[in-house]
Amino acid sequence: MTLNSIFPTPDIFEARRILCIQPHYDDNDIAAAGILTQLAKNGAELIYLTVTDDLMGVVDSSLSREAATHSLKRDQFAAGHIIGVKDQYWLGYPDAGEYNYFDVRRDLLKHIRMLKPDFVFAPDAWLTYEGHRDHIQTGLAAAEAVMFAELPKIPSSDPEVDSAYEVHEIKGVALYFTREPNYIADVTSTWEAKIAAMRCYEAQFDTNGMDALLMAMEMKSQQVAQGQSFARGEPLKVLHSSALHCGI
Ligand SMILES: [Zn+2]
Repeated sequence: MTLNSIFPTPDIFEARRILCIQPHYDDNDIAAAGILTQLAKNGAELIYLTVTDDLMGVVDSSLSREAATHSLKRDQFAAGHIIGVKDQYWLGYPDAGEYNYFDVRRDLLKHIRMLKPDFVFAPDAWLTYEGHRDHIQTGLAAAEAVMFAELPKIPSSDPEVDSAYEVHEIKGVALYFTREPNYIADVTSTWEAKIAAMRCYEAQFDTNGMDALLMAMEMKSQQVAQGQSFARGEPLKVLHSSALHCGI
């Protein structure tokens, strides 16, 4: 018996319903649109959940709150259509603002118990030099919500969801924006779809900003694929859901 046979690294291509938790409207796609497009084609349901309202990232400062939200959702739906996203949820916490970590965790618990994903994508809360608190809080709350989903004594934000919940298996988590990947997804075949999806995010990037982002993504995807048998990669830390605690 090996340690890896107790909590084996799960195969993300076995995922059937994936909850992709992100701090802002575009994080899932910047980090993982290539592999998510492949997983959707492989038959997995993709569900996106966005934690903050992302209003600080909207370029046009003349837009009202409502108009900015409308633009963000328009862009997100357009990108999601390319990738194959089935459903979207939003929590609406203030972007880069002051909000309670445990409120976020309760809301993530609710959605995990309600949607019963067998795989969860989220940002790596332990990314060294991550300076954006929304990313750290979202990543940690997602990891805790995965670990605590089956513990009925830990309440979500919705007692009705909790009382109706029957324990289900979460096969694993895939942490994106990670510096310690154990899996480099070959996204060569879906790279064009990823770029097309990224170009949908017009509310958050002017032309120069988008060009710079795409150039950085091009270079990063090739850098992480060095030494692999393919040209473009997306780095992920894929873990058995029981491997999120005490470093086992
Ligand atoms: Zn973000």
